[in-house]
Formats: sequence, C-alpha cells, structure tokens
Amino acid sequence: MTRKPRIAIIGAGITGLAAACWLEEHGFCDYDVFEASGRAGGKICTYDTDGFVIEGGPDSYLARKTRMTDFIRRIGLEDDLTYNHRGSAFVLKQGRLHETPKQAVLGIPTDLGLFSQTTLLSEEGKARVVKEQRIPRVVKDGGDISVGTFFRTRFGDEMVDVLIEPLLGGIYGGNIDELSMKATFPVFLTLEETYGSVIKGLQETRTKSDTTKKQGLFLTVRSGLLSVVAAASQSLRKDALHLNTVVTAIDKTESGTYRISFDGEDACVYDACIVTTPPKQAAALFVNRTPFSYVENMEATSCATVALTFCDEQVNNTHEGTGFVVARGGDEVITACTWTDQKWPHTSREGYTLLRAYVGRPEDESIVDASDEDIVTAVLSDLKKVMEIKGAPLFYKVTRFKQAMPQYKVGHVEEVTMFYERMAKMYPRVHVVGAAFQGVGLPDCVVQGEEAAKELVHEES
Ligand code: FAD
Repeated sequence: MTRKPRIAIIGAGITGLAAACWLEEHGFCDYDVFEASGRAGGKICTYDTDGFVIEGGPDSYLARKTRMTDFIRRIGLEDDLTYNHRGSAFVLKQGRLHETPKQAVLGIPTDLGLFSQTTLLSEEGKARVVKEQRIPRVVKDGGDISVGTFFRTRFGDEMVDVLIEPLLGGIYGGNIDELSMKATFPVFLTLEETYGSVIKGLQETRTKSDTTKKQGLFLTVRSGLLSVVAAASQSLRKDALHLNTVVTAIDKTESGTYRISFDGEDACVYDACIVTTPPKQAAALFVNRTPFSYVENMEATSCATVALTFCDEQVNNTHEGTGFVVARGGDEVITACTWTDQKWPHTSREGYTLLRAYVGRPEDESIVDASDEDIVTAVLSDLKKVMEIKGAPLFYKVTRFKQAMPQYKVGHVEEVTMFYERMAKMYPRVHVVGAAFQGVGLPDCVVQGEEAAKELVHEES
C-alpha cells in the first residue's frame, strides 16, 4: 500500500487554515498545521465582551469575493453570515465631516452631476476631476506605477489628498505614492486601458443593480470572525493543529523531502510545505535565501485599532452613516473611525454605542507604541471634533499590529512571479503564500491557501 503524501502547513492564520481545510475535505494527503502562538487565527481576533462583538483586527470582507463565503459555508457558518447596514460615509477634513460623493466607486464619481454638489473639494478640484475623461493613458504596455502617481495624474492632487488617499491608503496601511497600482487596484488600470478614462469606464461597467442595491457590500459572521477560525480548526483532523509550535527551519533532504525543525521538539519530514507566515519569518526558515531577496526585504507598516463602548446618552452623533476616514494634511492621530453599532448592529447591545478607530500612519507609527491610555486619550480628542462625547468609555480595547500590513510596492507583481519561479526550481513543492503575496483581504488569503493545497495535491498525484 502506498502511503499518502505528507504536507506541513506553517502558520494557522486564515491562509493556513484555508489550506488545511481544503486538504481535509479532499483527503488525498496527510497534513499537520504548525502555529507559533497559543491560538489559531493570526490577525483575526474577536473579543466577545459583555454582549459586544468587538473585532480587534479584520471585521468583514468584500462580499463580491465569493471564495470566503464558500469557505464559511463549507465549515458550517452560513446561517451566521450578515451584510453591513448601508449608510453615508464621511471624510474628516479641517475639523468638519463631509459626506463622500454618492454614486462613486472608492470615491471616484460615476454621476458627475451629483459629484458637483460635494463640499469636499474646491470648485477647481472638482473641475480637475471632471477633466479626467480627457487625460491620456498614464500606464501603457502592462507597466506598473504607484497608486499616487496614477490617481494624481488622472484626477489631480486635491482629489487624491482628500478622498482617494484616505479611502485606498487605509486598506493597505501604506503610502499610496509607493504602493503598486498593478498589485492593489488593477481594475482601474483595466478601465483606463479599455475606456481611456476611469470615470467613463466605471459609468459603462456599473450595472443598474450596483447603484440601486440596498444590500451592503461587506459580509461578516454575527458571532465574530474568530468563530470562523474556531469552526475551521474544528473541521480539521483531530490533533492536526499544533499550537505553541514554532517552526525554526525548513531544509531540503537529499531525497527531495523537507525536514521541518522546531523550537524544542524533534524534527519531522514532509513531502511538501505550505508556508503562510509573514514574509520575513518565511525567508528566515530557509538556509539558501537566494529566491527570497525581494520577500525578506518587504516592508510592513504598523497600526492599532481602538474599540470604545459608551451608553447612548454619552454620545451625540448628529451624522447618520457608517463612519469616516481622515483626509491628509490635518493633525489628527486617527486615520478612520467606524460607527460600528450603526454599520454592524449585531455587534452592540441595545442602548449602547460602539466605535472603532484606527491609528498609525505609514509616515508616523509612533502612536502604536504609546500606552493604551495615551492612545485612547488621543483618539477621544479627535472624535470630539465631530461628535459630542461625555465622560469616559465604559470600556475599551486597543489591539496593536506591529509591522503587520505588507507593502505591495511598485513592481510587486513581477517580483512575486519571479520569486515563485525561483522557489519552484530551488524548493519544489514548497508554496509560500498569504497576505504578503497575492492580496491582503481575507478572501484573497483563502484563495491562496486553497490554491496552494490544490496545486500540491496535483503535483503529488
Ligand atoms: P496571519 O494572519 O499573519 O497568520 C500567519 C500565522 O503564522 C500567525 O498566526 C503566526 O503566529 C504564524 N507564524 C509566524 N511565524 C511562525 C513560525 N515560525 N512557525 C509557526 N507559525 C508561525 N482583511 C479583510 O479582508 N477585511 C478587513 O476588514 C481587514 N481588516 C484588517 C485590519 C487590520 C488591523 C489588519 C492588520 C488586517 C486587516 N485585513 C483585513 C487583512 C487580513 O486580516 C490579513 O491579510 C489576513 O488575516 C492575513 O492572514 P494570513 O493567514 O496570511 O497571515
């Protein structure tokens, strides 16, 4: 009887768990998941506190990226899925909240009549945006460019600083003047290429249902994203998940298998590996780092989330909506704030207000190292610019993410392609995947984990 191939999965964040669940469901291989910390989930962390569901890290995912929904369904949590409540979003600029333009995609208008009414931009700034339709193509022949340069050239600096940077930069926690357009928002390059203008492209491609849909754009599970981690972990073979197990090295043996070494335990041999740790940790596992020259030097930025709870009587928020982002150029510490109880009503108890703010900018991350008390004081001072808040929060949770947001700089797509080609030659059947490579969103991580598992099974069979 031939033995089943053995696969080691390093890291039990969403990427590692998706890979493991795929292997479990398809049954072609034996596998083990090694996780350095005492819990699975990686960046996902939910606090179930006193009737509030508080996400420390990711809080939801883009509903149109359906592989995450498929994953959640397969692990039995379909009934727990919920869409966000829709509502207006705002930008904090010079101490005042301005509603973001209606009928817009990531701030870019599809209805120029409605856009002309926005108070967010000056008349010159708005005129410059309209001119986008006559700007020649910025990127040609499949090239790459920074997100900042692309949008500044097409829409002007004002639009970028007050709207595009806060909306897009926040997703990657990065400096948009360094982030790769091709790796982060390739859809806008396609629109430019096909229609000669992003505005025209969006007008052509947005269906009527996009603009009239009442449903939210995001999904999450009511019990918090950590329950996805728990359900995924429970669906694995008993004893497959090894917590508190730090992998220290992956060495290729003479027979072509891989010896996995651990901190304080005997090494084990596997036929293949799926490495899902952050990139620097992944590179450190290999003696020959030649393929890792780009990966081990990838930068990552830090941020913290700050969840605050109040009794409704303590907070007077005259704006109705889901929250706001902060325009460049102000002195605020926060970069965004979600009115969580309004966007996700299931997260809060009746009669209470739950807010979640982000702090930490790529050019100034020092706030992330401040004490919880100092962070909360700074956040409250910013929030009080736009909402009346009386007294102290009932409780708060500060969650820090140090060097956690991988930066996809210009050239990232090509670098990752080269990295994978070199790995296939030097370390066949080792797949290095996860947030640093082909998408940071939870659904992108699920896709990468599942595809790595699928490819290995094909290679092994
Ligand atoms: P990780 O979650 O980092 O998991 C890697 C795992 O590897 C960790 O558990 C780590 O302990 C383990 N590990 C490391 N070294 C070793 C070792 N030597 N041996 C064994 N194990 C090791 N995405 C969304 O789609 N929606 C959101 O709303 C959203 N919000 C976010 C908010 C914040 C504050 C952050 C930081 C990210 C957010 N993201 C969001 C992005 C998303 O959460 C991450 O990209 C994703 O969770 C990363 O998953 P991963 O499995 O690739 O990596």
